[in-house]
Amino acid sequence: MLKIVVCVKAVPDPKEAHKIKIDPVTKTLMRSDVPLVLNLMDKNAMEAALQLKEQLDAHITVLSMGPPPAGNIVKECLALGADHGYLLTDQAFGGADAFATAYTLAKGIEQIGEYDVVFCGMASSDGSTEWVGPQIATFLKIPVVTRVKELVEFGDRWWKVKAGMENGYRLVQVKLPAVLTVSRELNTPRTLSFSGIIKARKKEIAEWGINQLGLLEETVGQKGSPTIVSNLDSIASRRTVEIISGTREEKAEQLVKKLADAGVI
Ligand SMILES: Cc1cc2nc3c(=O)[nH]c(=O)nc-3n(C[C@H](O)[C@H](O)[C@H](O)COP(=O)(O)OP(=O)(O)OC[C@H]3O[C@@H](n4cnc5c(N)ncnc54)[C@H](O)[C@@H]3O)c2cc1C
Repeated sequence: MLKIVVCVKAVPDPKEAHKIKIDPVTKTLMRSDVPLVLNLMDKNAMEAALQLKEQLDAHITVLSMGPPPAGNIVKECLALGADHGYLLTDQAFGGADAFATAYTLAKGIEQIGEYDVVFCGMASSDGSTEWVGPQIATFLKIPVVTRVKELVEFGDRWWKVKAGMENGYRLVQVKLPAVLTVSRELNTPRTLSFSGIIKARKKEIAEWGINQLGLLEETVGQKGSPTIVSNLDSIASRRTVEIISGTREEKAEQLVKKLADAGVI
């Protein structure tokens, strides 16, 4: 049976992102008023795992690192059809950058045990560094393919996948176990079903903190982060509207002149 791990991130609901503010003192994002939702590309990662479960018979484990409310997105993935869910949650994990996040998730995956493929979204909708997937692979010392947009062929201990790149794609044959970060082109995620929600009620979410993972404080969270966001500023957008009048030719001429004066062309 194929053993799949899907890493899913709880992100501030993009539809309510306007409510996110910057704490003037700590210079960190204040997002407690914004509900957490399942990261968009992680829905594609979940869908890929569910389709493999239908095609090849697979066991799906969902893993998330986040504050206790992130448990809801793990529950959502269980309702979609995942078999087991784990939430890595601990004050000590707070303020983690991509490096510390990937390290903690890699330790969580090692603790889960056997895995053949680890699916991640290509990027989150908030930090969007695209670094977590590749860094998990580095910590687990396994290969990674990023921007996967098609699963082409399944060999015994290798897969062939199509991965996006500028103006084209790469056809990559990768040895398992491996990390695959997926793009939105890979599939169309299914929506939650009522029966799935009912079934998920019986499925437990195991919560692991720093002690259960046996990690040192200085290796996780802000203490374990080599990068610190020293300042965060919001840029006030200055949009002005100007109506250009005259004949079509006159309007075109004026527009070209204004764009040239503004140094745009
Ligand atoms: C505006 C902003 C700028 C930032 N800039 C930086 C920076 O320059 N350098 C830096 O190191 N950190 C930065 N961070 C912090 C970084 O976003 C967080 O550490 C974050 O948890 C991980 O990075 P990401 O969201 O960019 O991950 P990405 O690499 O974009 O996420 C890709 C995938 O990794 C998996 N994943 C990511 N986080 C989790 C999680 N918590 N649980 C489970 N799966 C997960 C998901 O599958 C996700 O789709 C920034 C955060 C913000 C909000």
